[in-house]
Amino acid sequence: MSLPLGIESTTILNKYRNLPQNGSIIAEYIWIDGTESIRSKARTLNKKITSIKDLPEWNFDGSSTCQAPGDDSDVLLRPVAYYPDPFRLGDNIIVLAECYNNDGTPNKFNHRTAASKLFTKHASEEIWFGLEQEYTLLDPVDGAIYGWPKGGFPAPQGPYYCGVGAGKVYARDLIEAHYRACLYAGITISGINAEVMPSQWEFQVGPCTGIAMGDELWVARYLLHRIAEEFGIVVTLHPKPLKGDWNGAGCHTNVSTKGMRVKGGMKLIEEAIEKLGKRHLDHIKLYGTDNDQRLTGKHETASMTKFSSGVANRGCSIRIPRSVGLEGYGYFEDRRPASNIDPYLVTGIVTETICGPVDG
Ligand code: ADP
Ligand code: MN
Ligand code: MN
Ligand code: MN
Ligand code: MN
Repeated sequence: MSLPLGIESTTILNKYRNLPQNGSIIAEYIWIDGTESIRSKARTLNKKITSIKDLPEWNFDGSSTCQAPGDDSDVLLRPVAYYPDPFRLGDNIIVLAECYNNDGTPNKFNHRTAASKLFTKHASEEIWFGLEQEYTLLDPVDGAIYGWPKGGFPAPQGPYYCGVGAGKVYARDLIEAHYRACLYAGITISGINAEVMPSQWEFQVGPCTGIAMGDELWVARYLLHRIAEEFGIVVTLHPKPLKGDWNGAGCHTNVSTKGMRVKGGMKLIEEAIEKLGKRHLDHIKLYGTDNDQRLTGKHETASMTKFSSGVANRGCSIRIPRSVGLEGYGYFEDRRPASNIDPYLVTGIVTETICGPVDG
């Protein structure tokens, strides 16, 4: 916001952030809407929260979020996890909630409930995931790629991946702020890197067990959108934000079960890959909107219509990391999921395919 005397609006806000809250805390409830986005609203609670059971259920107008018809618009918010709030600090929290319809059924866009059942059923497998969230920064005014020359293009891809120096990386301050905010909130963020296309970045979350993977990725996305809002930058999770010779954005899904992580695990990894190959198209259906624009067989992707796997091969559907191939155990990487996946759908179907259905 533009203010007199060059005072930043955040400087003014900080005065109020430091005011005592007189015992109350602020809980920012966040949920997944009907447009692959996140919504949130805040409420005051009269004491510090120490258990998920202390958090009240709540509701919102689902007709305004593409989640319910206008004549039956109340959607219920059921808290499932909470995190320290890096924006409000203190005892204030971010509350992740599942959405339920009036009749008690999970809302159409609530894929967490079904995924939870799979993880509960296969809890003894101790399934771990690590997601590599790629994303692209946009100029909020014209929607062009952030930092690119207006009406033109930067030099071709090459110097940007893990790039260092002006003209090679954009918005490092935003990315660093997000990294710190994730750590503060207790997200298992395992790293960040600049991507192949300038103004494209990646953060990794994991390894996380079962349902925590989807939870933590959604919260990390929420933090990213919020911080980008402060910087006046738009984050898009579209898998192919720009046509042509520019890399798309994925969400590589690294997977291991307890057995895969110990000596002899390669046999289980190979069995899992065989099972995945048999259900390729079922998986592709859940691996992100517009993913066909990204999975072309070029730009470090495999073709969408053909399943493939290989050690250290970034042109395959499934990659076994070189180190895992050498040691004979560890994990594998499913490279097919797009950046805009719902992680509950992806971790859910991977678990179903490898470990079996809920009622199997
Ligand atoms: P890449 O070489 O594909 O770019 P990254 O380092 O970006 O790989 O991401 C690897 C991801 O794999 C991280 O999120 C990490 O937490 C995760 N990971 C590591 N070990 C395991 C494991 N045993 N099971 C599942 N995920 C794992
Ligand atoms: Mn109102
Ligand atoms: Mn990576
Ligand atoms: Mn990447
Ligand atoms: Mn990867």
